[in-house]
Amino acid sequence: MNIEAGLSPEILDSLYDGVYILGRDRKIEYWNQAAGRISGYPSAEALGKSCHDHILTHLNEEGQNICHTPLCPIDQAFSDGKTHDAQAYLQHKEGHRVPVEIRTIPILDARGETARVVEVFREHLLPEATRQRIAELEKLALIDSLTGLANRRFAEITIGSRLAETQRNIWPFGLLFLDIDNFKGINDNFGHDAGDRALMMIAKTLINTLRAYDFVSRWGGEEFVVLIVNANREKLLQVAEKLRLFMEKSTFPLGGTRRRVTVSIGAALARPEDSVEILVRRADGLMYQGKKAGGNCVQAESGLP
Ligand code: GH3
Ligand code: MG
Ligand code: MG
Repeated sequence: MNIEAGLSPEILDSLYDGVYILGRDRKIEYWNQAAGRISGYPSAEALGKSCHDHILTHLNEEGQNICHTPLCPIDQAFSDGKTHDAQAYLQHKEGHRVPVEIRTIPILDARGETARVVEVFREHLLPEATRQRIAELEKLALIDSLTGLANRRFAEITIGSRLAETQRNIWPFGLLFLDIDNFKGINDNFGHDAGDRALMMIAKTLINTLRAYDFVSRWGGEEFVVLIVNANREKLLQVAEKLRLFMEKSTFPLGGTRRRVTVSIGAALARPEDSVEILVRRADGLMYQGKKAGGNCVQAESGLP
């Protein structure tokens, strides 16, 4: 396409931020290299696609799709001709969610109407200190090699020290026990490598969408344990529901098409008398109740504060 004066494709391609341009028909007319790196879609796969093709399907903090709603910053820029900022989680081609800051900028025509909208987006990367810490933990055999998450041993140590703090009456916390629904079916129908990709996709979404001070681990197989600090029942349920929605509303490439994987989640609050084993077993039991109710659901203890 003919990009506006001063914005040559070479300049846009040299930017670290993702940039794409949409016409009034909401079709993608330009897609820079960084947009390809952040989203996993090269420009050949993005050009000509429209917002209705659901390639990035932006979700907000609550896991709701903002496309085609009043919250969509592209629609906002088209309708009022102003710049808009938003935070969202885009869907990577491999299915995991990537947190991004978005700015949409209208390009006006001679009559002052919005002819196109430029979207600039930037991913929130892990700070360098966290990367170095992960490298050190890898050396101590506390990191799961497939997903890069904390392993079960690391989770037991972390939950144990949190429980010790709770017994001294410091911070309340809760556990989420996540289990992928019908995971064996992915392995059986599409092969073990496809199963591994699904595990990596879910691990990335968990690490990319939880707060830095929450703790995510691969408990084993297709099971993940998440520790949510400073949680009451409402907060725990809110995070669990958000994670459930992030999985339900994301698809990843499998067997020549895109499919979704859902999870069942058990949510348990730590009690002062808990041991690691008892607390994890309680969250696991709740997860199992959700599984029996059909899967893709969150189950929490009733009658908690
Ligand atoms: P449900 O909906 O009841 O949870 O059923 P499910 O199929 O998800 O669970 P099930 O426990 O029957 O099967 C889990 C499978 O996960 C069995 C095991 O072979 C597979 N698995 C465990 N670890 C890995 C791994 O690292 N990679 C792959 N690809 N598969 C794994
Ligand atoms: Mg399981
Ligand atoms: Mg399972």
